[in-house]
Amino acid sequence: MARIATRDGAFIGGEWVDGDGERIDVLAPYDGELLGTVVGSTDAQVDAAVQAARLAFPSWRRTSVRTRVELLRRAYELCMERNEEIAQQIAREVGKTIREAREEMEEYTVDHFRRASEDVLRYAGKVLPSTQESAGSKRIIVVQEPIGVVAAISPWNFPVDIAGIPIVYGLALGCTTVWKASEHAPLSAQMFVQLLHDAGFPPGTVNLVHGRGEVGQALVRHPDVGTVVFTGSVETGEQVARDAGLKNRVLELGGNGPQIVLADGDLERAADAAIVGCYYLAGQCCTAAERILVHRDVHDRFVELVVARARTLKVGDPMLDDTDMGPVRTPAVLRRTQEHIADAVAQGARVVLGGGHIGQVHEPTVLIGVTRAMRIAREETFGPVAPIMVFDTVEEALTIANDTEFGLTASVFTNDLRVAWQMAEDLCHGTVHINDTTNYWDQMAPFGGTKKSGSGRELGTYILDAMSETKQITWDVR
Ligand code: NDP
Repeated sequence: MARIATRDGAFIGGEWVDGDGERIDVLAPYDGELLGTVVGSTDAQVDAAVQAARLAFPSWRRTSVRTRVELLRRAYELCMERNEEIAQQIAREVGKTIREAREEMEEYTVDHFRRASEDVLRYAGKVLPSTQESAGSKRIIVVQEPIGVVAAISPWNFPVDIAGIPIVYGLALGCTTVWKASEHAPLSAQMFVQLLHDAGFPPGTVNLVHGRGEVGQALVRHPDVGTVVFTGSVETGEQVARDAGLKNRVLELGGNGPQIVLADGDLERAADAAIVGCYYLAGQCCTAAERILVHRDVHDRFVELVVARARTLKVGDPMLDDTDMGPVRTPAVLRRTQEHIADAVAQGARVVLGGGHIGQVHEPTVLIGVTRAMRIAREETFGPVAPIMVFDTVEEALTIANDTEFGLTASVFTNDLRVAWQMAEDLCHGTVHINDTTNYWDQMAPFGGTKKSGSGRELGTYILDAMSETKQITWDVR
């Protein structure tokens, strides 16, 4: 297997550059092992990275699309070779299971190269009729031009896949990128940038800086950045929106996804979906099932099914092939999860499974008797908890599901076509799944949220829109 050689600093203009900022130790969330260190970037290095991207842009945008696609194909091959090595790094530094990390690389990341190389070939402009004068001699051509420098700011839960969307699609389109990786997952980021370099993308087309929030802030505020693609929490996203000012931006923020189980729904399937929704990646997904709403008539049976399944999950060392759920990534996530459980119990909810933790490994937890006033129902928990609420009518389920500041993903279990359609239309979430887990997304479909879950859409050609300027060229052919 290839050993991917990286250094601990930034990657600017095609070279690893020693950092001058804070040293950040990366500790494994499972056992605290020191996995590596990166050195944060200074404001001057952020500026150097943006300048490298700005200087690379004119020639990269004029590089033929055929050449860009060739490089994407080469990167695809290289990524296929290095998937396992990067997946192992992700599993170690994020604490997601090795199976989840392989999924991130093999199902999502590597395919960004393939999809982007196809999508960009069909990303077309158009010709409009002129409606302003009678001679008929005007031609109006609408073209999509790459915007320039893209700032990609990513969270730790899908450290390579999420940043890979704007980086890879940006390269396809002719944009250049500066990436600020999460301080909790910078080592896999180093490997991915090295891979792009080894694939032959020209110096300056992809740059990487490290550090905490202030490094991201310097990048967002930089006047030479054209589009900001940010994925992270609502709190940071609101700051990014203020700092980005008039720049183009995509904000992919938190969620509080409801999974709704109606009385006629398939309970076995709904219980399977709740397990994926609540415990995949230890609940640390923006699309997690943060609330499970169950019709009173089927509540007890559904709880039995979920508890029986959750009991069988193997929890612990993320590097083992048969582990189902690893630790939570940070002490802050652990603290919030415990606070949400305690607050719910204080207000009358009951823990019917789990509730405890050993270090950062939290037990799969099932809570019943959850009500709308509780923090666990109002805020994003981002931990491995299934908070179960009861309802009596479809209208009540809709009211509870929409009673949230968030609007990313919802799911509904029913066999009634009319009700399914009504709920799909009335749920104010960016994605509504019928008879599937909230934790499902498709790489070609528009992904994004309403309300505080963000603005803009990504994946497939939707991310290309965010990174391009729509320009009209008019031509009088008389
Ligand atoms: P954060 O908001 O804490 O951080 C996200 C990124 O922003 C990190 O790289 C962080 O750096 C950086 N950052 C922090 N402050 C600033 C700032 N002022 N300006 C610019 N960048 C800054 O999120 P987490 O990493 O904790 O990720 C978890 C959150 O992400 C959850 O809320 C989850 O729902 C959301 N998310 C949303 C997704 C979606 O598509 N809607 C997908 C995945 C996650 P550093 O880490 O160094 O502090």
